[in-house]
Amino acid sequence: MPHFVIVGAGECGARAAFALREKGFEGDITLIGAEPLAPYERPPLSKSGSGQAPEPKFVAAVQRYQEQSIDLRLDTTVTAIDPVTKTVSLADGRMLGYDKLLLSTGASARNFPGIDGASRRIRVLRTHADATALHAALLPGRHIAIIGGGFIGLELAATARMRGADVTVIEGLPRVLKRGVPEEIAEAITERHLREGADIRCGQIIETVREEADKAVVHLAGGEVISADLLLVGIGALPNVSLAAEAGLAIDNGIAVNERLETSLADIYAAGDCCSFPLALYGGRRVRLESWRNAQEQANLAVANMLGEDREISAVPWFWSDQYDLTLQISGLADEAVTHVRRELDDGAFILFHLGTDGRLLAASGIGRGNAVARDIRLAEMLIAARAHPDHAALAASSVKLKSLLAA
Ligand SMILES: Cc1cc2nc3c(=O)[nH]c(=O)nc-3n(C[C@H](O)[C@H](O)[C@H](O)COP(=O)(O)OP(=O)(O)OC[C@H]3O[C@@H](n4cnc5c(N)ncnc54)[C@H](O)[C@@H]3O)c2cc1C
Repeated sequence: MPHFVIVGAGECGARAAFALREKGFEGDITLIGAEPLAPYERPPLSKSGSGQAPEPKFVAAVQRYQEQSIDLRLDTTVTAIDPVTKTVSLADGRMLGYDKLLLSTGASARNFPGIDGASRRIRVLRTHADATALHAALLPGRHIAIIGGGFIGLELAATARMRGADVTVIEGLPRVLKRGVPEEIAEAITERHLREGADIRCGQIIETVREEADKAVVHLAGGEVISADLLLVGIGALPNVSLAAEAGLAIDNGIAVNERLETSLADIYAAGDCCSFPLALYGGRRVRLESWRNAQEQANLAVANMLGEDREISAVPWFWSDQYDLTLQISGLADEAVTHVRRELDDGAFILFHLGTDGRLLAASGIGRGNAVARDIRLAEMLIAARAHPDHAALAASSVKLKSLLAA
């Protein structure tokens, strides 16, 4: 019986294990995860607006792993891979042989040097344990400072305000969501946060971050000092590559894989937040995505190729974020766009279509309440996948159905 081993029991690893069974794989599957919890969804960790810390939302009920004969090993870290003998070593000294190996080791939250996970008042948000500790502090009258006006920082800012905490967001760049989100959308989001009473400070240089007896203290260049009951460091995530690097796999802003998610060594694949891959839709440029849907899609693709199919990455990148009752959705990559066209939707929602030098639609980003932009973003995604060059006036006119552009 062939034995497939999956290292990393997050969104991607769990999906891959089930996908193997869905595709009829009858060999042994071992899914190994360093966290004590069965695989769970991370997006709710920053979004819960209700009164309590979020309960883990499991990717699948724990008994489903047993039913599908998936050997799920939690609280277990893989410490080494030997690609020659095709074995992985576990932290407890045991070893497991594999026929094919999938690395879905995800990413870890970045922190400031010298501040470790044990700090009570200076925290990051990546795991359910992080969320439990953070949410306990989101109480009326408490002051929460957040370094980083990215998605996780802003989602947590909204959650904290909804719980009655005071919020200060400190961002180094001139505006929030500078990476990957167009200015008009960032403005709409900023305006909403300000309206809800958050204090947002952009263009700040941080000199020091320190934990004192009962405060977290941030010193800004210019002399200002911000004291908070709790400080969230939301300055991005780094791919977990050390295991792969030590085994000799090529690394390039993540575990480097090709369009079939194969690493540089035979029978080892990587997928999800941990890997960088060439995206044919954008001229083969290498990207790494930290997105829920990408983790799922790549799990399915890796599994197909592990089972001998020959499938290449074709999905259009897609990301969403919820802040208050606003949902932002982005499809495609907008950074090489030279212009954009705006389409107004009902109830103040809008979509921006980002176009390249030759008029090709490269990306679409939209914001609105609830699902206001979902349908049009989905249609835009199909246009992006089709490498369409839609008429600008038609994109801007709400009366023109995007579906008709697709047909054209
Ligand atoms: C707070 C938060 C909010 C988010 N919100 C959104 C959102 O709104 N929209 C969106 O699209 N995406 C969102 N994301 C991103 C999304 O959750 C990730 O893209 C997705 O979880 C990636 O899945 P993954 O399986 O690749 O990695 P992960 O979920 O990081 O899982 C990797 C797992 O591998 C384990 N592991 C690592 N090394 C080892 C080892 N050596 N041995 C054993 N186990 C190991 C890790 O402990 C981890 O459990 C959010 C992420 C966070 C943290």
